[in-house]
Amino acid sequence: MNKAQTRGCAISSNLEIQPGCFRCAYKPYCGVCPVVNYESQGSLWGNMPANDRCKIFMGIFDLLFDSIKTPKNEKILREWADAEKKD
Ligand code: SF4
Repeated sequence: MNKAQTRGCAISSNLEIQPGCFRCAYKPYCGVCPVVNYESQGSLWGNMPANDRCKIFMGIFDLLFDSIKTPKNEKILREWADAEKKD
């Protein structure tokens, strides 16, 4: 825990201080990976506006939140979430 690398990973994983994430509406449901950021963009923090992983997550969140506007779809997603809790 005292290693600089470990602290760097822990800090850069915190969405509250992640420059591209702290204002994102999807922050409560999301997470970042400093290893992926470092490998793909050369920094533990990454650059969310140009980050492919973020784009995929945004697309998934957009789709899910748009989908649950329909009561039938919301019911299905809630059943999936409840099933996940039971496991
Ligand atoms: S969707 Fe992108 S900007 Fe939003 S919290 Fe996730 S990684 Fe950050």
